[in-house]
Amino acid sequence: MSLLIENVAIAPVAGPEIESGYIWIEGDRIVALGPGAADVPGLARGSGDPDVVRVDGTGCLATPGLVNTHHHLYQWASQGLAQDATLFEWLVALYQVWAAMDADVVKGAASAGLGWLALSGCTTSSDHHYIFPKGRGDLFAAGIEAAREIGIRFHPARGSMDRGQSHGGLPPDAVVEELDDILAATAEAVDAYHDPSFSSMLRVVVAPCSPFSSSAELMTESAALARAKGVRLHTHLAETLDEDEHCLAQFGLRPVDYMEKLDWLGPDVWFAHAVHLSDADIGKLAATGTGSAHCPSSNGRLGAGIARVSEMLRRGANVGLGVDGSASSELTPLAGEMRQTLLFQRARYGPAALTARQALELATLGGARNLGREAEIGTLEPGKLADIALWRMDGPFTSAVADPVCALVFGPPPPLARVLVGGRTVVEDGELKTVSQDAAGRAGAEARRRLLRLAEDRGFRAVKEVHHH
Ligand SMILES: [Zn+2]
Repeated sequence: MSLLIENVAIAPVAGPEIESGYIWIEGDRIVALGPGAADVPGLARGSGDPDVVRVDGTGCLATPGLVNTHHHLYQWASQGLAQDATLFEWLVALYQVWAAMDADVVKGAASAGLGWLALSGCTTSSDHHYIFPKGRGDLFAAGIEAAREIGIRFHPARGSMDRGQSHGGLPPDAVVEELDDILAATAEAVDAYHDPSFSSMLRVVVAPCSPFSSSAELMTESAALARAKGVRLHTHLAETLDEDEHCLAQFGLRPVDYMEKLDWLGPDVWFAHAVHLSDADIGKLAATGTGSAHCPSSNGRLGAGIARVSEMLRRGANVGLGVDGSASSELTPLAGEMRQTLLFQRARYGPAALTARQALELATLGGARNLGREAEIGTLEPGKLADIALWRMDGPFTSAVADPVCALVFGPPPPLARVLVGGRTVVEDGELKTVSQDAAGRAGAEARRRLLRLAEDRGFRAVKEVHHH
């Protein structure tokens, strides 16, 4: 099957932008793109060829599909709680709710969360799942099943925590696992699901949760496991000043120095947040090729701070974007994080801090680099996978901006004419095509009801308790 998008503006992220041109797709790959009318051998067969689907892109902007590099899909079921809390207060309030989750909660939450991502132009998402209550079904598999149904490229991270309160950590002992169990389950997850191929729809990541919930031994053993298996490493780092204090008090080191000591800097690692970095920290990330996932809405919601993104970019450190879990970033559309990033950086550093093009690059190529997939996705180029967002720029309230990339980043996310993942249509005219959009949304609402019911069964008293934490 071939697909030809014609008469479309193209912001390929790599190479020059095209005011009006075409993208030619065969199977799951981009074969050619360029200005004007398609000039490719296969097209000689003409529009009468039943194997060629033609899409008129008039009025649309094509960009690479957006890449989300930090999320906790299960949190769809716990949105709107602990609304005015700091990160540590928020976590302490919510651990007790999350302890009650089961595979049904995860499946429903992931269906809604991934559907929502696709509806904001996202074609690849990671998911950091780090709470695995015993006897509650296969939570890791539940997220994977949802991703397969939605049709999004998925990088689930097998997260973990082994440092409960009795060992100086933040989470209650009830939500942590034993080190040996974690390593066995993580190895099993990689063996069962990880697909290293070029077209891979699923790659597994190894991801102890954070310095304040995972032991040093879990961190080093996880790094060794990931490197033996050839998969990537992810964790939360330097999100808040509370974490800085915790690391200094417990380990005598600030977060990045602690990670360096644990062999956790390198081109196979990306950190979520990386808000509170010193000049030396930024230098270490740049020198080692360590990436980070900037999650501005979540950082804003929790009052965590503003990451030094424009300085990191200037010094050569890779940055991608993430929406973060829906409990700290309610209904955040990934496309909107480009704007949020741009505004935060300019508010902190002035209007030259970040351009619209740079923001688009963070959301696409920067994300692909975090996931180790810059050869396959993140730009529109011949030979790369056909992961494409087609933004409709000509609606009735069309932006009065002549530059479509500016309109995409400075304005609210425009409607989507189409989202392709490996050439397959996942969204068309603003609607999910792979699954029932209503059913995905309802599954998310049901997951919330179920989680709160399960939490109450376990003695969690009432939702208002976490509101007034
Ligand atoms: Zn997170």
